[in-house]
Amino acid sequence: MPETIYDVAIIGSGPAGYTAAIRAGQLGLKTALIEKDNVLGGTCLHVGCIPTKALLFNAEVFDHVKEGAELGLENTAGVSLNWGSIQKRKQGIVDKHAKGLQFLMRKNKVDVVRGYGMLTGAASGGIHTVAIEGGEQKSIKAKNVLLASGSSARMLPGMQADEQILTNIEVLSLNALPKSLVVIGSGAVGVEFASIYKSFGADVTILEMLPRYVPVEDEDVSKELMRVYRKRGINGFVNAKVEKVEKCDTGVCVTFTADGKQQKLEAEKVLVAIGRAPRTENVGIEKTKIKVERGFVEVDGYMHTAEPGIYAIGDIVAGYPQLAHSGAMEGIVAVTHIAGKPVKKINPLRIPNATYCHPEIGSVGLTEAKAREKGYEVKVGKFPFTANSRASIVGQHEGFIKIVSDAKYGEILGVHIIGPNATELIAESVVALEMECTAEELANIIHAHPTLSEAMLDAANAVFGMAINA
Ligand SMILES: Cc1cc2nc3c(=O)[nH]c(=O)nc-3n(C[C@H](O)[C@H](O)[C@H](O)COP(=O)(O)OP(=O)(O)OC[C@H]3O[C@@H](n4cnc5c(N)ncnc54)[C@H](O)[C@@H]3O)c2cc1C
Repeated sequence: MPETIYDVAIIGSGPAGYTAAIRAGQLGLKTALIEKDNVLGGTCLHVGCIPTKALLFNAEVFDHVKEGAELGLENTAGVSLNWGSIQKRKQGIVDKHAKGLQFLMRKNKVDVVRGYGMLTGAASGGIHTVAIEGGEQKSIKAKNVLLASGSSARMLPGMQADEQILTNIEVLSLNALPKSLVVIGSGAVGVEFASIYKSFGADVTILEMLPRYVPVEDEDVSKELMRVYRKRGINGFVNAKVEKVEKCDTGVCVTFTADGKQQKLEAEKVLVAIGRAPRTENVGIEKTKIKVERGFVEVDGYMHTAEPGIYAIGDIVAGYPQLAHSGAMEGIVAVTHIAGKPVKKINPLRIPNATYCHPEIGSVGLTEAKAREKGYEVKVGKFPFTANSRASIVGQHEGFIKIVSDAKYGEILGVHIIGPNATELIAESVVALEMECTAEELANIIHAHPTLSEAMLDAANAVFGMAINA
């Protein structure tokens, strides 16, 4: 049998890789998806997006029940968590979707190849060879290669994850609920786990090196999150420099400096959530012309690297956020380009951020500070959920919607939401930005009543000082 020459070989089956594989199959490209693990889905499905959101849903339901008296629920005082059942439900969701991915690969005629894939250098006669370790096949040949090897949690220097010092992997499957948890880092991963374990009853403290939580978000959003977290009893320090993390009788002792003085915290567990490192070592990059900047791969607008025929997508790419939906679209752009079909380049300013802590955060486009930095004369409309009737119905009044618009032409430059269902509400704003919608146009779009999305209408009207409900 002649050796198969694939149109596309994809290394890594996370959301970037599996989405690229499905679309490549749909476009009629002969596709191979190489995965080192026994399951498809990568970080997002197994130790990221999906299991965290499953636990966050448990946390939300538990919070509602704890406040049950207000909702007219009786006998809720003794309600407790069955950690084993929570873990089982979470794993069930993950397994179901991992199976779904296998089905989708078959449906789209994608060959799944088990093993560790590595680039071997430039193409020979237009054909690349991908070396494979630990699988049945030793190599495969393809006209194009997509590197989608993802990322791993960064660790504090000299430390290793174990039963007490946790990354996103260990913290998702603890044997028992911890009584206390220190979270180092207040990006999306840090604040989500802080939210989960606080709702589950742990004593939680966040240590953030920068002056505010969720530092990539608009400053007003950070302020509101810090206010609500304080109210929820989640302790925290900003401008906090962690100096030492060591095992002690009570679990782990963390020494840090904040407000100019050295302090010490003791907790059962510590979660290190200080960012994610691209997996660009030991994948053969050095054998190619691929350019790497601080570990991240440089690409053009079609995700093509400096090595002809090799593309990079997902968490390893420079200049794009490390988010599942960003990686997925990067995969679609790359394979559509390979198929020779028209494709729109991704504008990083149109990629939404979603953080599923309580209260949720959704944002897209420029923050107010960034818009001013770029020289825009800015007009802001802000509407609080306290004045939204659906927010009263669902009993969640924290937060607001903030629209940042250009004073000259009215174009919406950014939308920043903190509050109930913010991660769903942000979708409308992404469409608005994509369509270069003005605040005035948005203010004329009818929103159903009573909905949380009406707060968007009010925020658009607030740009002109004419919100109806506040
Ligand atoms: C706790 C947590 C929560 C998150 N929540 C969200 C969220 O809610 N929304 C969101 O958008 N993002 C979220 N993220 C980020 C999201 O998980 C990542 O952006 C996404 O998984 C990146 O996708 P990827 O395909 O680039 O890489 P990954 O998902 O990391 O997948 C890479 C895959 O490649 C495989 N691989 C690596 N090297 C090789 C090799 N040489 N050969 C073969 N296989 C290889 C790996 O085994 C893995 O399966 C979260 C992350 C974490 C840690």
